[in-house]
Amino acid sequence: VDASTALEEWVRPVEDWPVPGVTFRDLTPLFARPEPFAAVIDALVDIARSAGPVDRVLGVEARGFIVGAPVALELGVGFVPVRKAGKLPHTTLSTSYALEYGEATIEMHADAVAPGDRVLVVDDVLATGGTLAATADLVREAGGEVVADLVIIELPALGGRAVVGDVPVHSLTTY
Ligand code: IMP
Repeated sequence: VDASTALEEWVRPVEDWPVPGVTFRDLTPLFARPEPFAAVIDALVDIARSAGPVDRVLGVEARGFIVGAPVALELGVGFVPVRKAGKLPHTTLSTSYALEYGEATIEMHADAVAPGDRVLVVDDVLATGGTLAATADLVREAGGEVVADLVIIELPALGGRAVVGDVPVHSLTTY
């Protein structure tokens, strides 16, 4: 099975969730099937390799953990979780931003990215771009560089690429 077939078959659109008028792209059917899931991870790893060497993969809570950790293992680099406020036990860097549905604060351990580190940021969906832009702020505050953002799904109507700015964004599919 290839990645595009996997996405066509196993990403489930859920109408009017979490609010009326929004179609939520539900990836849990994909995650539940090992071959389609592996095909999608492999496609992301191929793109990551073409983006050049990286020192770390960052994944954003919560679905960015599911996608980012296997990408990091395949690349042979460490995985760093970017978490919602109040979850990380050690010294953190923190930033707040506007979401598609509300507001959020995310945090990263201050020692998780070293000055000069080349970082790949992975998430499931690029919507308004607020999450990836805020994650890049955390990386820069730690002295690192975001080499690329990697997502499974991009929702171009929400204009996320413009919000992300100069960081190259790679997506496997758009809706
Ligand atoms: P953004 O900050 O607006 O780009 O929103 C991206 C975040 O919202 C990501 O972490 C996604 O997990 C989540 N998100 C937004 N829309 C969807 C969707 O349709 N399906 C799954 N996750 C979504």
